[in-house]
Amino acid sequence: AIPLVVAVSTSLAAKSGLLIRERQSFERAREIEAVVFDKTGTLTRGEFGVTEVIPLVGVGEVGKEGEAEMEVLRLAASLEASSEHSIARGVVKGAEDRGISTAPADEFQSMPGKGVLGVVDGRRLKVVSPGYLEGAGIELDDERVRAAEEGGKTVVFLLEDETPLGALALGDSVRPESKEAVERLKSMGLKCMMLTGDNRYVAEEVSRDLGLDEFFAEVLPHQKAEKIREVQERYTVAMVGDGVNDAPALAQADVGIAIGAGTDVAVETADIILVRNDPRDVVTIIRLSKKTYSKMF
Ligand code: ADP
Ligand code: MG
Repeated sequence: AIPLVVAVSTSLAAKSGLLIRERQSFERAREIEAVVFDKTGTLTRGEFGVTEVIPLVGVGEVGKEGEAEMEVLRLAASLEASSEHSIARGVVKGAEDRGISTAPADEFQSMPGKGVLGVVDGRRLKVVSPGYLEGAGIELDDERVRAAEEGGKTVVFLLEDETPLGALALGDSVRPESKEAVERLKSMGLKCMMLTGDNRYVAEEVSRDLGLDEFFAEVLPHQKAEKIREVQERYTVAMVGDGVNDAPALAQADVGIAIGAGTDVAVETADIILVRNDPRDVVTIIRLSKKTYSKMF
């Protein structure tokens, strides 16, 4: 039988917008020493806007000012229209906002944690991460790209075959609730960390902004669970995420917490779901768990 105090707490939790799918994990929550947050969509809003388009080489029949930028954005958006990724949505919206209509894409494929590929206007294109360029040995030395990255922007690249045609800089914003969540967790003596596939400059900026203790950047989807395992060598760990890529890390953590508005895969893997999508509710979980189980033992 479920002890009364646990039953009461579970319904209290539900009232606070916490869906507890695994009761043992709610009990373990009082022992959490470190909280690892996913960045995009968890600590940040996950709503990207295109802030700059940087053409790199001849993109086609362009002459007039701004035409090369428009063409880079059009080709990238045509490909990204088939992707659900938050970066993809940002690129598509960037094209829409500028009144650019996209072309159909064929042979679309996504490369998780790296980007997308397909054929647009008969051209074999990709939109990829800086990590992809590095892995493929594609050298790119551009002042504007470097400035965007160092300025904390998420930068992705449009390639034709393996030739960079342009770069797109995107900006996301930190959720105001994240700052409060981190402050409260730290005041309770917990370590706050971040795990992201994004570049280290963006990670650094978000980390500084929120006062995080540690961050891991440029982590590929299959490495996320491994990072959690490493942190578990030092601490009892809760992982908070929203994406498909986060699912293995959520499963690996001592307590896996999903943002309710996240993907089905993340929600189905997590032990606890934040129905209100508010990272401050992680504090509520820990407090409630401590209160509940200190009464029993
Ligand atoms: P996150 O950890 O922020 O959820 P992912 O692991 O999904 O990021 O992706 C890591 C990186 O791969 C992104 O920062 C981006 O550079 C690149 N990427 C992934 N999907 C796409 C896409 N659809 N379009 C462009 N770039 C992408
Ligand atoms: Mg995410």
